[in-house]
Amino acid sequence: MKSPEFSYFKAQTMADVFSALQTHGDTAQILAGGQSLLAMLNLRMANPKILIDISGLESLKGIQKTGDVVRIGALTTHHEVLSSSLVQTHVPLLAQAVPYVAHLAIRNKGTIGGSLALGDPAAEYPAVALALNATLVIQSASGERRVKATEFFISLYRTAVQAHEVLIAVEFPVATANQRFVFSELARRKGDYAMVGMALAISLEGQTIRDASLAFMAMDDKPILAPHAMKAMVGQPINQQTIAEAQKGLDADLHPAGDLLANAATKKHLSRVLLSRALMQAGATHV
Ligand SMILES: Cc1cc2nc3c(=O)[nH]c(=O)nc-3n(C[C@H](O)[C@H](O)[C@H](O)COP(=O)(O)OP(=O)(O)OC[C@H]3O[C@@H](n4cnc5c(N)ncnc54)[C@H](O)[C@@H]3O)c2cc1C
Repeated sequence: MKSPEFSYFKAQTMADVFSALQTHGDTAQILAGGQSLLAMLNLRMANPKILIDISGLESLKGIQKTGDVVRIGALTTHHEVLSSSLVQTHVPLLAQAVPYVAHLAIRNKGTIGGSLALGDPAAEYPAVALALNATLVIQSASGERRVKATEFFISLYRTAVQAHEVLIAVEFPVATANQRFVFSELARRKGDYAMVGMALAISLEGQTIRDASLAFMAMDDKPILAPHAMKAMVGQPINQQTIAEAQKGLDADLHPAGDLLANAATKKHLSRVLLSRALMQAGATHV
């Protein structure tokens, strides 16, 4: 299928973007890497009257570490995230997740901001952002606001970004020495969207889990935390009993509907498998 007709505007500055958004309201749509939006247009899942292309805005590109935060500009491509030594060193959960994002050609154009703003429940970055409780930085003509990941993902393809706003960056907390991270997912073919995926961050004190954050993707209409499983881990050593209790917690946390890739029972089973493997891996890397 071909896309519906639309006008196109290439923004040179943020002021251009806000002025165009003000003029066209919710008939406009932001174009970043186009790796989801162009497909959605061709499938007639989107019907904007005008695309506002932000891809030339240098101020939205790049990765910096300031204090205990790594800030990634919205237009930073998946490939740039994957190649970043700052991400490898300071945001290891994100570094583990990026190789799962699509294929090389898509990673060269697709952006982290595009993925987060799209809010696909089966995408990797949203689950990582949730597990690390990242901060999403959103700008409009009237200024900037900062939204925690727990408040950012609202429902299927719906995030806190409003029609007059642009997601400009995401900020991840810098990993500390006592933290362990595991990102893992199961897909039918490498590069496909996952049947289920999981992002785990734990803090250890000696052999004991002091803090745990666990997010799942492709299990609901948005990425979700697993609070019962998280609670079952805290204060416990990493052993088979803790794994079993955490898996039990997943029964209360996860209520997938099933989709074209896997039915609900398969998704629940795979979530238990992923969590068990992740805790064993986190325990094995404990020093
Ligand atoms: C074959 C294929 C396989 C894929 N596999 C995966 C996968 O396994 N995992 C995965 O996570 N993704 C996957 N993707 C999607 C890919 O990661 C996209 O790059 C990403 O979802 C969107 O980024 P983009 O820059 O291309 O955004 P666009 O396609 O340009 O935009 C996506 C949406 O976000 C909005 N938007 C974009 N940037 C902003 C912004 N800064 N502020 C506000 N709104 C904005 C747009 O208006 C649009 O609604 C796949 C895509 C394809 C084509």
